[in-house]
Amino acid sequence: GNSGDNLQPLDSALSDEERFKEVTSLTLKCPGCDQKFPFGGIVASKYYQMTFSGLQCARCNHQFSPIQLSSQFESDIRMHISRYYTGYLKCDDSTCGVVTRQISVFGKRCLNEDCMGVMGYCYTDKQLYNQLHYFASLFNVDKNKRELLKPLYRPDDPEAAEKKIPTSQVLALGEQNRELFQTMESVVQKYLSNCARSFVDMGSIFDFMNPE
Ligand SMILES: [Zn+2]
Ligand SMILES: [Zn+2]
Repeated sequence: GNSGDNLQPLDSALSDEERFKEVTSLTLKCPGCDQKFPFGGIVASKYYQMTFSGLQCARCNHQFSPIQLSSQFESDIRMHISRYYTGYLKCDDSTCGVVTRQISVFGKRCLNEDCMGVMGYCYTDKQLYNQLHYFASLFNVDKNKRELLKPLYRPDDPEAAEKKIPTSQVLALGEQNRELFQTMESVVQKYLSNCARSFVDMGSIFDFMNPE
């Protein structure tokens, strides 16, 4: 095993829907009314709309300032990164279920003396990397304009908006929000390049953790 393998370019043959199947949504909180909602780019939502001057809460019409958006985005990113660095490990034997942080003491053998299982990361570098790429995709102008983003809801989900935004409007909104989206993308890109470096370091330090 070598964690460098996980850093290959993402498979472009996959749609975002498949590639980001396991990711967690980006959750924002309206500074005006405290409503929490998932943000899925320039898509129809009952909770928010993209306007020509940025993100607006559908409940109270509060207009997010760029700083309100980027600081919430950054704290969501940090939450995922700290989840990774907390380094919880779990036993791969489904009948055992041991979870621990004590990797340096016990190595890759399960802590349960009678168990033949192997300990592995609960939240892998690949999952974190995928999560950050998903966050980046939400603010990718081109992806938004081509309507290639992972949908927030399944079509039969009662939370789903009744009708989609007309394509001509998506295109116009993409252009109008280009500067904002590029700023947001650069927030996540900074973490992605830091992570790529750390994963390589972590991979060599913890190589003994990876089952052959
Ligand atoms: Zn609101
Ligand atoms: Zn075990």
